[in-house]
Order: sequence, then C-alpha cells, then structure tokens
Amino acid sequence: MRDRTILIVGGGIGGLCTALALGQAGWNVRVLEQAPQFGAIGYGIQLGPNVVPMLARIGVAERVLAASVLPGNVWMLDALTGQAVTCVRTDEAFRERYGAPYIVIHRVDLHNILVDACRAVPGVHLDEDAAVTGFEDQGDHVVVTTQDGRRIEGAIVIGADGIRSRIRTQILGTSEPVPTGYVAHRTIVPIEKAPKQIPLDDVVLWGGPGFHIVHYPLRSSTIFNIVAVFQTETFAQKGDVESYRAELQRTYANAHPAMREMIALLDLERRWPIGDRPPQRGWSKGRAVLMGDAAHATLQSLAQGAGMAIEDAIILSALIDDCGGDYPAAFRTFESERLVRTARVQMESRFLWEHFYHTGDVETQVRNATEAARSVEDVWECLDWLYKGAVVPVGKGG
Ligand SMILES: Cc1cc2nc3c(=O)[nH]c(=O)nc-3n(C[C@H](O)[C@H](O)[C@H](O)COP(=O)(O)OP(=O)(O)OC[C@H]3O[C@@H](n4cnc5c(N)ncnc54)[C@H](O)[C@@H]3O)c2cc1C
Repeated sequence: MRDRTILIVGGGIGGLCTALALGQAGWNVRVLEQAPQFGAIGYGIQLGPNVVPMLARIGVAERVLAASVLPGNVWMLDALTGQAVTCVRTDEAFRERYGAPYIVIHRVDLHNILVDACRAVPGVHLDEDAAVTGFEDQGDHVVVTTQDGRRIEGAIVIGADGIRSRIRTQILGTSEPVPTGYVAHRTIVPIEKAPKQIPLDDVVLWGGPGFHIVHYPLRSSTIFNIVAVFQTETFAQKGDVESYRAELQRTYANAHPAMREMIALLDLERRWPIGDRPPQRGWSKGRAVLMGDAAHATLQSLAQGAGMAIEDAIILSALIDDCGGDYPAAFRTFESERLVRTARVQMESRFLWEHFYHTGDVETQVRNATEAARSVEDVWECLDWLYKGAVVPVGKGG
C-alpha cells in the first residue's frame, strides 16, 4: 500500500485539487491538514478562464460554475477621481476567445465542493488536526512526522502547505516571505449595503497612491465582497479595531467618496499582512515536491495564486501518474513545465503592484494615458499568455 500512497501536506485549494486528481486516477492519497477542520476563510476569490478547464478535468467545473457569479467586466478605476483607467471585458466575446468564463466564487463554496468531491473518491483520505513538522526521505519511501508524534509513510510527499510551507523550508532552506509593507482587510456585507453609485455586478479595482480596494458580488449577487489593501508602517504589528479604523481613515482620506463608504463597511477584527516571494528554482528533492504557494507564492495583482495552484494540481498529478515510479524525474519535469509561467505571474504581479495599482502623481498620469489608448482587443492580447491556459504535458491529466 505504501508504494501507492501519496502524502499531501496542506488541504488548501492546491492540496485538495491534487488529491482529487490522483484519487480519480486510482492512487491512495492522504491529505494532512493542520486545521481542526478542512475549510476556507469566508471571503471571495476570482478565477480566470485558464482555471475552469482544469476544474473540468477533475469533474467539478459544473458545480463550481453553478455556485459562481460571472461578471461582465473587470474594471480598474482611478481611486481619486473614480474615472475608468481600463477594463477587461469578460462578456460573451471574452468567453468565446478563451473558451471559458471569468468567475468569482465564495471560497467556502469552492472548498466545500472540493472536500465533497474528495470524500466521494474511495482512495482519498482527509486527515484533520495533522500539523506536519517535516519529512524523512528513506530512499524508497518517505515518512512524514506530525506535531502530535505520528509517523506516516508514503511513496512521496507533496508540499501544498502555502506561503509559509514547512516542506519548502526542508527543501529550499529557511526563508521568510518578503514583507511588502501592505495589509489587507476583507469583508462581506449584504449587497443592499454596498454604495449605490458603483458597478455592483462587475469586479472592480480602485487603484491609488499606496492603497487599493477590490470588490465584487457573490452568491447570486446577494452579498458583496470587499478587500481593502494599503501600505502602512504598522504592517507587522497587531493593533485593535480603533487603531485600524484611524489608520484607514487617514489612508483613504482623499479617496473617492464611494471608496470611503466601503471603508466604513469593513470588518476590522482581522487584518492580513501581505507577503511576497521572488521566483526560485529547486522545487523538489528526492521524493518530495512543492506546489502552489509553497513553490511560487505571488502577490494577488493578477488574482492568479489559486489559479496557479489548480493548474499545478492537474499537471503534477498527470506527471506522477505517468512516471512509472520515477518520481524525481516527474518532479523535475513538473518544475520545468511550470517555472516560467508561475514566475511570470509572480513578476507581472509585482510590477502591477508597484507601477499600476499603487501609483501617484506623474506615474498615475502616465498609467492613465497609456491605458486610455488601448482597445478591448489590446487588453485581451496582453492577457492571452495567461488566460489561454496551461498545457497538460501528458495524456491522462487526472
Ligand atoms: C487578499 C488576497 C486575495 C487573493 N485573491 C485571489 C484571487 O482572487 N484569485 C486567486 O487565484 N488567488 C488569490 N489569492 C491567492 C490565493 O489565496 C493563494 O494563492 C492560494 O490560496 C494558494 O493555495 P495553496 O493551496 O497553495 O495554499 P493555501 O491556500 O495557503 O493552503 C495551504 C494549506 O496548508 C495548511 N498547512 C500549512 N502548514 C501546514 C502544516 N505544517 N501541516 C499541515 N497543514 C499545513 C494550511 O492550513 C492550509 O490549509 C489571494 C490572496 C490574498 C492574500
């Protein structure tokens, strides 16, 4: 059994999709998740048209689409004036061009679909309360150790344990994510509470000097997801609601009135410091491999971190299934297939973050003038490399 058992550390989107793909291909899979329950934080997520065909390969696309909202546009607005900077049309013509829609979905709904699908596959076992401390490569198998003293054996281990991955530390050495100095506050409110003068059916990003807001509707447009991100010297500190509120009011003082209305709606109980990682090679060592954020965490400017994790899941599982037991070779092929695409997402996201979302003064004028000159077709062409999707290098693909 050990020879056919694959251990996956982390039951996030990447880990669950990999488990599903491998389980459907007949492998025995154990997903080790540190949390007491498999679940997701209760906010929204955007998925580009490159992601939907990957979800179709593991048989969940229909359920995901049924739980999603399909926006007709992804807008970028100037945070000070409210004027449109650019728009990615995500209408019927977009869906035809890319063969799939742009979707937004509640993370909890996506997670539940994946967990249910995993539970329906006999070979997939979901282990909660399993905080992994490391792995031992024994040459012909691996042993994964957990905080509560368990030693779990398998043929290989996949590190899908996110931006602060333990498995990454063991493969690549200790390195913290790079702090960006930005933090995020996320909130969902009933759609009736959203400001009336803004496009409620679309994905909208308001970009300004040192801050932005992203919003979109979820669950048949009954609720409204708001993410406010801004630069602050206190990014590494834990404050209280009142100190966060004062900071937000200062930061967004000159922002468009609709943005200030949204700031007033934010739940300030929790904030997320935003970390980044530069691209790095060396995702595997012997019988252990990294995927998703553990391998190539990215800023969320292109809204593609989870998208890349889902693509990884399909491609990695196809290569494992096809490798005839030569796992190190499959892992090397996986990295060579995925490095450039995921590194481009990381690098473009960093560029957008610095020179597109958070610009001020002259840079804003240049941005606005450049974008004003671009047609719908120009905008799509710039996104073709991403939205036209990844090639699955072997036949089965999970
Ligand atoms: C504000 C914000 C907005 C975003 N918006 C989008 C978006 O719109 N679209 C998009 O595609 N991406 C978006 N992302 C990025 C996306 O959330 C991540 O890229 C994605 O969740 C990565 O998936 P993953 O499975 O690799 O890792 P994770 O989702 O981080 O999952 C890792 C899992 O491993 C578990 N784990 C960690 N350590 C251990 C351990 N030692 N033992 C056992 N379990 C462990 C964790 O509990 C977790 O369940 C956004 C990110 C942020 C911060």
